[in-house]
Amino acid sequence: MSEVRVRFAPSPTGYLHIGGARTALYNYLFAKATKGTFVLRIEDTDLERSTKEFEALQILDLKWLGLEYDEGPDKPGKYGPYRQSERLEIYQKYALQLIEQGKAFYCFCSEEELEAMKEKATREGRPPHYEGKWRNPEFFEEAAARLAAGEKPSIRFRAPNKPYVLNDHVRGRVVYPENMVGDFVIVRSSGLPVYNYCCVVDDVEMKITHVIRGEDHLSNTVRQLMIYEALSATPPEFAHVSLLIGQDRQKLSKRHGATAVVNYKEESYLPGAALNYLCLLGWSHPEEKDIFTKEELIPFFNLERFSKSPAIYDIEKFKWVNGQHLKLMNESELRNQTEKFIEKDHLYWAQSDEWKTNAFKLFKDSMLFFNDFARVVQENVFQIDESFDDKAKEILAMPTTKDLATHWNAELNLISSSDKFLSQANFQKIFDKIKTALQLKGKPLFMGTRLSLTGKDHGPELKDLIPLTPVDVMKKRCQKILSFSAQ
Ligand code: GLU
Repeated sequence: MSEVRVRFAPSPTGYLHIGGARTALYNYLFAKATKGTFVLRIEDTDLERSTKEFEALQILDLKWLGLEYDEGPDKPGKYGPYRQSERLEIYQKYALQLIEQGKAFYCFCSEEELEAMKEKATREGRPPHYEGKWRNPEFFEEAAARLAAGEKPSIRFRAPNKPYVLNDHVRGRVVYPENMVGDFVIVRSSGLPVYNYCCVVDDVEMKITHVIRGEDHLSNTVRQLMIYEALSATPPEFAHVSLLIGQDRQKLSKRHGATAVVNYKEESYLPGAALNYLCLLGWSHPEEKDIFTKEELIPFFNLERFSKSPAIYDIEKFKWVNGQHLKLMNESELRNQTEKFIEKDHLYWAQSDEWKTNAFKLFKDSMLFFNDFARVVQENVFQIDESFDDKAKEILAMPTTKDLATHWNAELNLISSSDKFLSQANFQKIFDKIKTALQLKGKPLFMGTRLSLTGKDHGPELKDLIPLTPVDVMKKRCQKILSFSAQ
């Protein structure tokens, strides 16, 4: 196989979408796995919708994800420029060549004429293909004269009337029957070329060997195969990966949550986790692994493990993958990053280093995101809950819970006000004392103590949690229980 060259070809008409990021990822991985080249090509011929700002933002997102390309608008290579708006002369050159060879022709039809042609065909039960006079060689002279007089025609490709076959890495053998498409425009009368045409010219010129993209492009491929043939170029290999859908099986959209990569960046997802999750949307690891780093993945990546069925986007799984990637980080790095997400006025910052270290040890595993940590600490350590959930209410209803809260409240009141916290040993001592005094054991003892001191029916082990919880918070929690039970 000649050197693999793949490309990601976004249109800069919006933010980088997770579907686009997945396409970029597959191309990147394939280039890395085959020691090939990954090209970024900006498809900005839709001048009205394309902006330099979106191009810059999409590049930022690709870089955040770690999808470094080898050639692109800001990475000169042999086959540049890499922005289609800067390649108009190249498209013009090929279009003239196709016209000379009779494979394309100038078309002067007006919008109205085209519309009338379509309506007539539909009325007569024929496909709405172009049947205008300009495809006919006897009008070529007239066309040349009108062109010379300054009129601006479009350029239409003469679509061969025969079937085309695509052997796709994902979809298998795809047959496009004859007469599926009529003569189509490749250069608009404004002089701007259309996607199907530029894409092929660029893929030929840039020596692209494999095209990995979304299944939604499958219907474009027949036109593209025609153009490759007309240019006497061998088409690249294709892999049309399945679409992303929501859990309701509808096309992925904003309704299913954030769809722009930048939203995930802002919500503190790890780029490595995003790549991991996106990769699994439509591709599976040969060893059935679902957590891996980009580097671990590269040796396993190939085009044969794509799934044919649509990939269901599941935000809960994405969050879980993020949590798993936090666990892969080394502890000091994780703590460093986590602390960046704790607001400066959070009570965390008012505590000793030892306290912070212990809090980090205790809560780090409950994080799915960096910014979970501050919330989890707040809820477990500093917060006096306003209400109780159903499970907590059951414990509250146990007759012994009020006794426990009363005893704990009394014991905590005996602690000197200079002692902000209760040591593990002192906690154990008081616990044993109350247990003996009340003659309690088992669930009523443990659950009642937990609810009294933490305000919750579940959480980390008391022996770890209590020494981190301020005594005055625990007192208030006991009082809360007592005021509730009294009602
Ligand atoms: N600009 C096209 C898109 O964003 C590229 C499609 C292709 O990869 O050929 O969908």
